[in-house]
Amino acid sequence: MSFPPNLNADLHCHSTVSDGLLSPGDLARRAKANGVELWALTDHDEIGGLGEARAVADEVGLPFVNGVEISVSWGEDQTVHIVGLGFDAAYEPLVTGLATVRSGRDSRAHRMAAELDKVGIHGAYAGALKYAGNPALISRSHFARYIVELGHAKEVKSVFDWWLAKGKPGYVSHPWATMEQALGWIRAAGGIAVMAHPGRYRVSKAELREMFVAFKDLGGRGIEVISGSHAEDQTLECARAAREFGFLASRASDFHGPGESWIDLGKLPPLPDDLTPVWSELS
Ligand code: AMP
Ligand code: MN
Ligand code: MN
Ligand code: MN
Repeated sequence: MSFPPNLNADLHCHSTVSDGLLSPGDLARRAKANGVELWALTDHDEIGGLGEARAVADEVGLPFVNGVEISVSWGEDQTVHIVGLGFDAAYEPLVTGLATVRSGRDSRAHRMAAELDKVGIHGAYAGALKYAGNPALISRSHFARYIVELGHAKEVKSVFDWWLAKGKPGYVSHPWATMEQALGWIRAAGGIAVMAHPGRYRVSKAELREMFVAFKDLGGRGIEVISGSHAEDQTLECARAAREFGFLASRASDFHGPGESWIDLGKLPPLPDDLTPVWSELS
């Protein structure tokens, strides 16, 4: 099947298999109800939800492609997210590579909790784990929910500004995958690598360009131009980068759940019409 350019594609969201609030099946039903015409589930460093997502997507008649959002360390303590789309989820090096990335999350969470303890937020490891369910999936989002539960913030977003963003008390640096590994796994599994929300990285313009160059050199094909987390100027900047570097353009809500997201599944503006959509390469 080939997909038209003006498709309501949403190629980035999270389920309870990472830091989302809905099950993969509930996301599939919600995507369908919201008018999504091509969907990918992209949990952080985990592909365990893809089977259920695909089964329910098939049931409701929603075209689906496999997805994942891999955490990558770049330069000095910058985390970059690389989305893989349309890969073979049984490809062993991808499966074991992702397991290795996840295996660091638990010790990182203990270090985060120790730092939060020093500023008066106690019991954060157990508190976050309660939301995550599984130590290999524990993320800053789960800490954020616990901090909201304690009453230190009204909503998850404001927790990051005070406690969890880089430079804040609960932030610890952590070695994720390298860009080379992430792209290697995705490409060898037959997938397309897309840089997630490039507008959101707190780097200089020169550093962002360096990142694009390295990503492209390693076989990166696309970037998210439309992202639920992009402000308008960031969308324009990413559209310019897509033209300049010849990247395919993706459309991505980054939906995590009702009440915790910038934008709902499928409720995104269209891509600028001179760009080539990433779904022109998906089937
Ligand atoms: P982690 O992979 O543990 O570093 O957690 C990263 C996740 O935290 C992201 O995927 C988002 O879901 C969430 N996150 C990061 N920054 C923010 C923010 N400023 N507001 C809301 N959620 C955020
Ligand atoms: Mn997330
Ligand atoms: Mn991300
Ligand atoms: Mn995401």
